[in-house]
Amino acid sequence: MPSSTHNLQGDGAHGAAASGPSLVHGLLDAAAREAPEAPAVSDGADHWTYRRLARLSHAFAQWLLAQGVRPGDRVAVRLPTSARLAVLLFGTSRAGAVFVPLNPETRGFQLRPLLADAEPALLVAEAEAAAASGLGGLTPAPVHSIEDVWADVERRADLPDGERLPGAAVAPTALAVLLYTSGSTSTPKAVACPHAQVVFAASAIQQVLGYRPDDVVLSRFPMSWDVGLYKVLLSTLGRSHLVLVGDGTSDLVLMRRIRETAATVVPVVPSLAAMLVKLAAREAEPVPGVRMFTSTGAALPQATIDGLRRAFPGARVVRQYGQTECKRLTVMPVDRDDERPGSVGLALPGTSVLIVDGEGRPVPAGETGEIVAAGPHVMPGYWRDPERSAVTFRPDGAGGLRLHTGDFGRLDEDGFLYFEGRRDDLFKRRGTRMSVVEIEAAAADIPGVRACVVLAPTDRRDLAIVVASELDPHTVLRELARRLEPAKVPAHCRTLAELPLTPHGKSDRKALAAMIDGETR
Ligand code: ASP
Repeated sequence: MPSSTHNLQGDGAHGAAASGPSLVHGLLDAAAREAPEAPAVSDGADHWTYRRLARLSHAFAQWLLAQGVRPGDRVAVRLPTSARLAVLLFGTSRAGAVFVPLNPETRGFQLRPLLADAEPALLVAEAEAAAASGLGGLTPAPVHSIEDVWADVERRADLPDGERLPGAAVAPTALAVLLYTSGSTSTPKAVACPHAQVVFAASAIQQVLGYRPDDVVLSRFPMSWDVGLYKVLLSTLGRSHLVLVGDGTSDLVLMRRIRETAATVVPVVPSLAAMLVKLAAREAEPVPGVRMFTSTGAALPQATIDGLRRAFPGARVVRQYGQTECKRLTVMPVDRDDERPGSVGLALPGTSVLIVDGEGRPVPAGETGEIVAAGPHVMPGYWRDPERSAVTFRPDGAGGLRLHTGDFGRLDEDGFLYFEGRRDDLFKRRGTRMSVVEIEAAAADIPGVRACVVLAPTDRRDLAIVVASELDPHTVLRELARRLEPAKVPAHCRTLAELPLTPHGKSDRKALAAMIDGETR
């Protein structure tokens, strides 16, 4: 019986991982050596080469040392997406401290528990937020305005190298980043990300996606989300030019920015991709230039993939699946992006994906079970949370850890993963086992449905669907009935002009569940 343990050295897998720098700032140093004058990162205000970015990151490290920041200290930043964040990331790494990016939309009452949990040595924020009336009351740590910090960083960047304070020695096992994956609704939970894991994951992803020196990568994701943060690392590995557009940039402006910047790589989540398809439909001509869309965060409906391909001729649409706890599990090989609809690809080079049953035993290919990741990308656990860590990160019997994702899916005979949903997304109704993912895929196929969320039944309400559409609910349900067996057709349908989004741009399931539960009680 073929086992669904997918060893990456096997057929059909991505090749083996390459070696290189083992520290986050080492990635930048390699790029600055190899391509010093290449454009590294820009936003509406700043535009730096790799040489300049490296210098600025040294200067920020010096500033941290001058503040008394020591190796292992946390450096919290709460700033909108900008090129300066790349400097702060690499500079913090250089100082041996831990970068803690906080979403700029996180407000006081949500921020307080995060700051209490991270216990940063200092916090960098926008000037108004850094003022006494702002974030100061939320943490005993000093709060610095980015404008003040920046003036000092620019001054230090122009000092001769000989005037630098001695830097910190950093071990690959040291933490580079803390990434908070839940904020307001539950107790804070940060994934502890050491240099070795971060660099391995970024390098393995780069090996599959192949960012190039002639690429312009357009990202508008916050750096508090790994999808935004790793764009800095991937672009650095590719010697590519990362163009950051602020989190607040409206989707409407994005199409213009794609043209203006001559973007070649555009990372998307489903809501953004759907918007691009809609905007592209208004353009007189297909939009040239983009060679690759990379998608993660949630399943990208086939209709959206087809729409992107139509609007951006020649562009690859690469499906991926990941969790911050190991960054990324799978990527579809770029040149096979149109194969195996519904799959989210192969395990990263040098890693493996297993499907296990309730007892943790691998199940055969084709069978559904929990998705588990193994390899050098698995992070060591949650920050200061051994109980939660023990549930998710379990010993692999060989001295390493396996990540139990809590997500369900299956592998095919060739090791391609098919994502079926979170544990709560899989359920039985009228004797039939199903997943919200397949019902959402059917809804996304209905012309006129821009986005949708299916809510699994609870003990108080039956299966429900919320769609962003001008169609009336009966039409949506009738169309679903044409596409699905009767047990899978929801009992309730609610239509909205737009679905609420999380700060990362995913549909906000919790908000929608609260809305529907309130209405159907
Ligand atoms: N970490 C995931 C990825 O990069 C994204 C997510 O957590 O939703 O694929």
